[in-house]
Amino acid sequence: MTAFGADLMARLDAFAGFTEEPGLLTRLFLTTQHRAAADWLMELMGKAGMNARLDPAGTVVGRYEGTVPGAPALLIGSHIDTVRNAGRYDGNLGVLAAVAAVAELDRRGERLPFAIEVLGFGDEEGVRFPVTLTGSRAVAGRFDRAALETRDRDGVRMADALRAFGGDPEAIAAAARKPGEALAFLEVHIEQGPVLEAEGLPVGIVTAINGATRFAVRLRGMAGHAGTVPMALRRDALAAAAEMTLAAERVAAASDAGAPEAGLVATVGRIEAKPGAVNVIPGEVAFTLDVRAPEDAVRRDACAAILAGFKGIAARRGVELAVETTHDAAAAPCSPGIRRQIEAAVVRAGVRPLSLPSGAGHDAMAFAGVLPMGMLFVRCKGGISHNPAESITAEDADLSVRILLDIIRHFEHETPTA
Ligand SMILES: [Zn+2]
Repeated sequence: MTAFGADLMARLDAFAGFTEEPGLLTRLFLTTQHRAAADWLMELMGKAGMNARLDPAGTVVGRYEGTVPGAPALLIGSHIDTVRNAGRYDGNLGVLAAVAAVAELDRRGERLPFAIEVLGFGDEEGVRFPVTLTGSRAVAGRFDRAALETRDRDGVRMADALRAFGGDPEAIAAAARKPGEALAFLEVHIEQGPVLEAEGLPVGIVTAINGATRFAVRLRGMAGHAGTVPMALRRDALAAAAEMTLAAERVAAASDAGAPEAGLVATVGRIEAKPGAVNVIPGEVAFTLDVRAPEDAVRRDACAAILAGFKGIAARRGVELAVETTHDAAAAPCSPGIRRQIEAAVVRAGVRPLSLPSGAGHDAMAFAGVLPMGMLFVRCKGGISHNPAESITAEDADLSVRILLDIIRHFEHETPTA
C-alpha cells in the first residue's frame, strides 16, 4: 500500500467531524456544518494546488490548471452532504479521493493538457429539501429553479438557505459548464451493495445507474370474521398482496438469473393491511412496488409482466386492484468510452475488471447525455451504507486513488455522444 490510503482514511475521519449531531454524522444541505465542511475542503484543495471556490448552487469547486491555463476541465466529484446518522464514506470518499489524486499531481509538478475540477456537491441525498442533485444538476445545466421554492421541515425556503450559506440563487445558471469547458465527469463512490465483496474485488466499473419505477398498489377485498368465513368464500386482500409480492420477486429473480447484466430488482418495501386485527380477514391493503434496472427496456418489460401478474391474481381472488405510478426515472447509462478507460486502469492495477450496475442514484446521473460520464465503485463492508457501520479498508481507499490517478494520466477526450 502507498501512503494514499492512510492519509485518505485520516482525512475522512477528520471530515466526519463536521456534523450536526455530536457522535453521529449528519450533515444536511446548506447547514452551518455543511458550510464549515466546505471551508475545510476549500482549504485542503488550496494545499493540493487548486484554486477553490463555492459556486452559486453551493458546490465546492477546486480547479487545477493544465499546461495551458483556461483549458477545458475533466470534472471529478461526488457529494459532501449526508443522510442522518450516516457513514463517513458515502459521497465524501469520492471527493477526498479526487483531492488526493490532484495533490499527488501537484506534488510531482505534473500538468496535463486539460484542467481538473474537483467538485464537492452539496445535495445528493435530498434529505433537507424534497429535491435532490441540486449541485450536480446546476453544473450540468439541468437545474430546475422550482427547487428554490421548496421548504425544509422548519419552513425555510431553499433560496433563503442558499443565500445564507454563501450561494446565489439568482446566479445558478452561471454554475453550468458551457459547451467546450468540460470534457467528462468521473465519480468514485462506495458500492453501497454487496457485489464487490462477494466477488472478492476491491473496485468495479459501473455500467449504468439504474432507472427506477415505483408504484402505489391498493387492493380491496372483503373484511370478515376470521372464525366464521370459510376459506373458499374469502376475498382476503393481504393474502392477495402476499401472492403479488412473491410474483414480483419471481419476475425479477428469473430475469437476473437469465442475464446477470440485466440487473433487474423488484421490491415490495411497505405494506399496510386494514383493519389490522388478529381476528379480522384483511379487507384493504396498500403496498409499494419499486422496480429498477440498468436498461429502461428491461425495467419497462418487467413492470408490464409484474402488473399483468397482479391483474391475474386479483381477478382469481375477487379482489379489486388499483395501481398508481408514483415515480419513474430513466436509467443513466455510463459512457462506453469512459467505461473502457476506467476498465483499462483497473486492469493496469492488476485487478480483475468487473462491471456492475448501480442500484442507487448518484450525482453522475445529472451528467448523462450532457458529458461523457463514468463511475468507479469501491467495495464496502457487508454492502452496508446509509449507516454508521459503513466501512471500507485503507487498502481499497489507496487503490481507488491510484486508479483515479491512472485514469487521469491516460485520459482521452471523447465526443459527448460516444
Ligand atoms: Zn452517495
